[in-house]
Amino acid sequence: MEYVGRFAPSPTGLLHFGSLLAALASYLDARANDGRWLLRIEDLDPPREHPGASNSFPVTLEAFGLTWDGELCLQSERHEYYRDALERLLELGDAYRCSCSRKQVQERSGGIIYDGFCKLEVPEEEADAAVRVQCPAEPTRFLDLIQGPQTFDLAHTSGDFVVLRKDGLFAYQLAVVVDDHLQGITHVVRGSDLLPETPKQIHLQDLLGYSAPRYAHIPVAANPEGQKLSKQTFATALDLEHPVPQLFEALTFLNQSPDPALIDASVTELLNWAVTNWKMEQVPPLLKQIRPQ
Ligand code: GLU
Repeated sequence: MEYVGRFAPSPTGLLHFGSLLAALASYLDARANDGRWLLRIEDLDPPREHPGASNSFPVTLEAFGLTWDGELCLQSERHEYYRDALERLLELGDAYRCSCSRKQVQERSGGIIYDGFCKLEVPEEEADAAVRVQCPAEPTRFLDLIQGPQTFDLAHTSGDFVVLRKDGLFAYQLAVVVDDHLQGITHVVRGSDLLPETPKQIHLQDLLGYSAPRYAHIPVAANPEGQKLSKQTFATALDLEHPVPQLFEALTFLNQSPDPALIDASVTELLNWAVTNWKMEQVPPLLKQIRPQ
């Protein structure tokens, strides 16, 4: 089977060490399997976009030697595909319009689990409405290549979930599933913060008749307080002038044990070593790992 991997950052901020881990792990797994590696920018949410982030991604990846295959893909240019999938879900009767606010859901359920209110009380056509997909009644099971066997019971953790937001924007879940399918992605390697989203994606693939890629979730990097490095916790942006020490640290974090002498190597030499010696089975099966200071 041909291997196609991808890195799919959202432009909500500049790439940081946590982003480098996802980019590097997905790149190495693709290259070690003689696969293709694609870059997709998930720019679906203009209000949350950080100015300049989208343009900085290709430049940053190039500075780190992580060259992608084919054309860069921008989700902002692919709305027609998401619209088609949404219409299909509505036609199949697997999705329905929902005008409930977060507050109403909270008041009725005491939490975030959607109670199916609009499935019975169909909102008027004109009302601003989200679209929700009916979640599976049975738990979803899959084998994660790093984290092992997984079981998620969406009916008890999220309920029917949103694929089109009330503000008219397509939800991440829908776009990611459509693009992974259309781009022929066979392997998704990404941060474990997205592990709980995976059963929703597998369910959408089932409904839309797509085959599911294999999933591998790497541990996310946390600061000494245990918080995930993210734009919200003010993770520092990658330093384009000094890629080797950051790549070396990322390889160490992924437990690939680079030879200490490689700290003086070039980007190309270090990546060549990393592709040849990549061992997915050495990546710790942890959801989170502290990044040493
Ligand atoms: N765009 C998502 C993010 O930046 C990642 C999507 C994915 O890898 O599935 O968190």
